[in-house]
Amino acid sequence: MIYADYNATAPLRPEARDAMLAALEVGANPSSVHGPGRQARKVLETARRQVAGAISGLPQGVVFTSGGTEAIGMAINGVVRQLEGACTLLVSAIEHEAAAKNAGYSGARVQTVYATPSGKADLADLSERLTAWDREANGRPVLVLMLANNETGVIQPVAEAAALVREAGGLTICDGVQGLGKIPLNVSLLGVDYLALSAHKAGGPQGAGALWLKSGAPLRASLFGGGQERSLRSGTENLAGIAGFGAAAQAATEDLSTYTNLAGHRDRMEARLKAEAGVTVFGETAERLPNTSNFAYSGFRAETQVMAMDLAGIAVSSGSACSSGKVKRSLVLSAMGADDALAESAIRTSFGWNSTPEDFDRTADAWLQALHRRKTKETA
Ligand code: PLP
Repeated sequence: MIYADYNATAPLRPEARDAMLAALEVGANPSSVHGPGRQARKVLETARRQVAGAISGLPQGVVFTSGGTEAIGMAINGVVRQLEGACTLLVSAIEHEAAAKNAGYSGARVQTVYATPSGKADLADLSERLTAWDREANGRPVLVLMLANNETGVIQPVAEAAALVREAGGLTICDGVQGLGKIPLNVSLLGVDYLALSAHKAGGPQGAGALWLKSGAPLRASLFGGGQERSLRSGTENLAGIAGFGAAAQAATEDLSTYTNLAGHRDRMEARLKAEAGVTVFGETAERLPNTSNFAYSGFRAETQVMAMDLAGIAVSSGSACSSGKVKRSLVLSAMGADDALAESAIRTSFGWNSTPEDFDRTADAWLQALHRRKTKETA
């Protein structure tokens, strides 16, 4: 089996597994003051330093959550509540549903920032909105922009956008879930106020994540109880999950060159698919995550392709497919201007830390064979 669905979940890194097993052995609550409790606290704080290190942030800015979705929801809802609704969310058209839906349900006003055909948030559109900003009517601008798109891999102009928003007296919430462990991440260089992270996209376990927030950034807690995580996220911490997250974040950050090297293999695969089948590659003119390729052959339905690839022993996904089983047209590709037939024919391959150069070649082989079979069937 070739696994080419790292953007959905990356296989667990060995460093994460080891850290999780060790944490499970501790068997105590990090809030307890006795020896075993202090040992658990040490595990927790080590992970906090590791996660902070991976984003060049301060450990005290890291609040552990159950994953990316919770971190994004915590940021959006926490900001809207703390500002008592005196804000308008500027949400890019290509956000993951975790951001788009939390924004929609937050009760705040929402404006959608357009995407360019290359798959980036449109800075000109953002700038126009901010220039015409009516502070009285709209309150503070709060930008919600992801670091890298989960479907296309297109890296977003976060630093530039955050600078525009800062100038306008606003705040920036960044969904960094797909960036961690794939590209260098530095919260100061990004200039964001909040950064959401998830363990399982970086080789950690599912069910662990974090929200990093800048010192002094407004945030009201969404969960109340025992006052864990500086009272921003009550509830006994998922110690083993968090330990795995910390170890994965550190290992992935130390191993970024492995990801950088994937780009050449990805480009070779795409060049072959374009030359032999004329596929459309989404986001290819923009800077992308080195591991991601989203391509379409109009009329060859994505779910048919995913099944054919699965039969050939290659795991890929269609659309955004974070909660698999649902097959729907990608809003991201539509926002980039793709017509329905093309958007419904798009599949995503995403490789990672355990992929080999041959994985890319065999993926291309299997896909070209699937297309050939389909064409033969059509003409029979
Ligand atoms: N944001 C992006 C860009 C994602 O790809 C995902 C993955 O599903 C999420 C957020 C949600 O993260 P999690 O699965 O940890 O809740």
